[in-house]
Formats: sequence, structure tokens, C-alpha cells
Amino acid sequence: MDARVRPYRQRTFAILAAGILASSPWTGWWPVLFIIPAAIFFAAADRLLRRVARPELVMFTAWVASVVTIAGAVALAGRDGLVALCLIAIPVITLSARFSIHGVLAGVTIASALIIAVAFGVDPRAVLHGPELVIAPLALVLCVAVLSTPLMRSDIQHRTDAVIDQLTGMLNRKALGTRAHELAQQSQVTGEPVGVIVADLDHFKRINDTRGHAVGDAVLKEVAYLLRKRLRAFDLAYRLGGEEFLILVPGSDLERTVELAARLREGVATSLVAGNLAVTMSLGVGASARNEIFDYASVFAEADAALYKAKRGGRNRVCVAERVPGAVAAAPAAAEPDVSLRKPALA
Ligand code: GH3
Ligand code: MG
Ligand code: MG
Repeated sequence: MDARVRPYRQRTFAILAAGILASSPWTGWWPVLFIIPAAIFFAAADRLLRRVARPELVMFTAWVASVVTIAGAVALAGRDGLVALCLIAIPVITLSARFSIHGVLAGVTIASALIIAVAFGVDPRAVLHGPELVIAPLALVLCVAVLSTPLMRSDIQHRTDAVIDQLTGMLNRKALGTRAHELAQQSQVTGEPVGVIVADLDHFKRINDTRGHAVGDAVLKEVAYLLRKRLRAFDLAYRLGGEEFLILVPGSDLERTVELAARLREGVATSLVAGNLAVTMSLGVGASARNEIFDYASVFAEADAALYKAKRGGRNRVCVAERVPGAVAAAPAAAEPDVSLRKPALA
């Protein structure tokens, strides 16, 4: 989230700096002094963020620095600049995108305290005669926090929903492209192999036809659970659609991926799902070799052909890919993989 917001944060900072500069002939030049250290501080914080164990603390410190910068500039501008205290609401907009509700509350408290401190510190008499000087920025800060929090939360929820399959809770096809691309880049650096398993439930249509769609859905949910239960934390399980699943197994060569696929097949075949149904699954396995760049499209094609073989061979089995000669050499190293590549319809 922060990486996406960064360019807009920089633009906002530039607009604020321009505003302070443009007001200087009337408010005095002291506030300009705040811009330079603040710019240096933000650039340092952005760099530090990538290296530290607790980036949220660096982010919050940078956020506090941004409100202190605005408050400091307003304080130096004196009585006539107090109206600019409303600008403190700008960093408040970003609070809920970056921090938990505790962070939002802490930020709003700091912003409000600064508004009160600067207003009374600069000219207590002016504030007592015109309390709107404090009430208006305080109300603005609170309104911005109250409105932006649900907006940001709903944005985050939409992003999560977009990559999660609602029925099984697995990742969906949309999430696959980015991960496959990352694994390709990672394999280029580490030389580690990546295993791919494509799995498809056997005769699933019969379950829908004889037991109904709701039971079919329950079977899909349970199978997804049975598969995930047998994976390591960093293996990734996707529902490609219908009753078809894909598992990415980083660091696993063909042999180890076949062993995992065998465990997954057995796990499904030996469990009664949706009450009392015996369900089986066919699986096709492929993997990139050690010291080879992982090319998702070709490994998927191999695993998919192996799944087709498993279906033709009688189902409820694991089949292994035959390597397609030349496929890897022809593969672009770091191009976004084509996740739309599909197999021919299964007989
Ligand atoms: P095979 O062993 O060859 O894979 O046969 P199959 O019956 O499993 O495969 P087929 O492709 O003929 O049927 C898949 C069925 O999956 C058809 C479709 O109605 C059903 N299906 C797809 N998505 C869902 C879903 O979300 N819920 C339920 N209940 N059924 C679904
Ligand atoms: Mg099927
Ligand atoms: Mg299918």
C-alpha cells in the first residue's frame, strides 16, 4: 500500500512546500526552513523502510514528523498563519491506509494536540476571541479520520476479495500471475527448482447431478481444506476454477513434488467428504530443474499434460510431466507469465 501511495505523498509534500513558499512574503520566511529538513527526513525514512525489522515504526515516526513539520511552519508564521492549521488534516488522510486502528487513534490524538498547542502557543488571546481557529481544524481532522478509515478498509477488503476464491478460501487465478512472476525472478537468483501440481476432482459432475450443487460446493470446500492441510506455509494453493486446483511448490524438484502430489492424492482418497462421499482426484506434476529459470507457462503445460494422462489412465493417480524439449530455452526470463494457458477439454 505504502509503495502505491508514495508518489502521491511526494506530490502532496511538493504542493504544501509550494503553498508555504507562496505565502512567505506575508507570513515571513521562517516556515520555509522546515521544508528542507522535512524533505531530507522523508527521503531517509523511505530508504530505511526497506531495511528495518519494524517498518511500521519508521512509518509512524515519518508520519509524526510530517504533522510536526506543518505545525512548526504554522507556528513560525504567527497569528496570521493560524488558519493554515487545517493543513494538518492532510497527513491524517493517510493514517488508516498505513496503520491499525490504534495507529489511527494515536495519530489523531497527536494531530489534535499539535493544533491546540500551536494555536494557544502562538496567540492565546486570538483563540479565546475566535475559538473557531481551533475548532475548525480539530473538526476537520476528526471528520477526515472518521471518513477515510472505512473507505481505506473497504479498499483493502476489495483487494483481498479480488484474489481469494470465496467458496474455498484459496487464492484464485488472478493471484497466480504475480506469484509465478516472482518465482521466476527468485529462481534466477537462487537456482532453486519450483514444482507445479495441477489437480482435478474425478467425476465431480456426478456428485452435482446425484447429490445437488450444495453438496458439490461442500465437497470443494473440504477438498481445499484437505489439500491445504498437507502443504507447507510457503506452498501456494489456487482454485483455478470449477473443481480444478493448482499448487506451486517453491524449492521442490520433480521428485519431491511427485511425493507431495502422492500424499495429496492419498489424503483426498482416504477421507470421506461432505458426510459420507468417497472422492478421488487426478494430479499432474511438473517442475523446473535446479539452476533453471522457472518458466510458469511451460511447467504448467507439462503438468497439465500429465493430468490429462492421469485422467486417461483411469483417474485417482499421479502422473509426471515429460519435459518439452527446448521449451525452457525459449522462455523469456522475467516476462509476466501467461496464466491464461489452458489445457484441452478433458475427455
Ligand atoms: P473428470 O473426472 O473428467 O474431471 O470429470 P468431471 O465430472 O469431474 O469433470 P467435468 O468437467 O465434466 O465436470 C466438472 C463439473 O464441475 C461441472 C460443473 O457444473 C461443476 N462445477 C464447476 N464449478 C462448480 C462449483 O463452484 N460448485 C459446484 N457444486 N460445481 C461446480
Ligand atoms: Mg473433474
Ligand atoms: Mg475439471
